[in-house]
Amino acid sequence: MKIQGDKVLSNLDKIRLEILDAKEKRWLKQKALVSKSKLNLISFKFNIPSWPKKSSTINRTFKIALRDFHLFLDKKRVNYKTENSSDTLLGPETFLLSSVDTQELKNLAIDFEETHHIGRLLDLDVINTNGEALERKTKRQCYLCGEIAITCMRNLTHSPEELREYFDHKIREYLKS
Ligand SMILES: [Zn+2]
Repeated sequence: MKIQGDKVLSNLDKIRLEILDAKEKRWLKQKALVSKSKLNLISFKFNIPSWPKKSSTINRTFKIALRDFHLFLDKKRVNYKTENSSDTLLGPETFLLSSVDTQELKNLAIDFEETHHIGRLLDLDVINTNGEALERKTKRQCYLCGEIAITCMRNLTHSPEELREYFDHKIREYLKS
């Protein structure tokens, strides 16, 4: 039993390292994009609890949500261009580049997160031309209990399974609508 336990732990460590590596790669990619284009960047992705972060349902939902985000930006007359989407260990993600002011982009991103059907499952970051992410002025709410999300995360209020169940339920519901 002990050997089995050690094995599980080393697998978890391996996953943690892979996640860190994927996050580092994302950061480097973002930095390269803004420095090359001299434009601000929106990183469009899900906040997927637990594991796995890749599935055909997630990909399908992502494509529809991204299309909705494009329509939303068009309606607001925001200029942007979209970089190719990629599917990483952290789930699908797309980068949009724009010359619009970062604070304005951040406000738009928050507006979308708060008004779109599955906006609360999304995690939109705005990055300036120095590669720095803009902070949110108002803290995000937890989608399960309405508490400040970071408080629930720190206190481990909800199990990863519970959060994932909600996430999966919401995207299934969205695909049906
Ligand atoms: Zn909560």
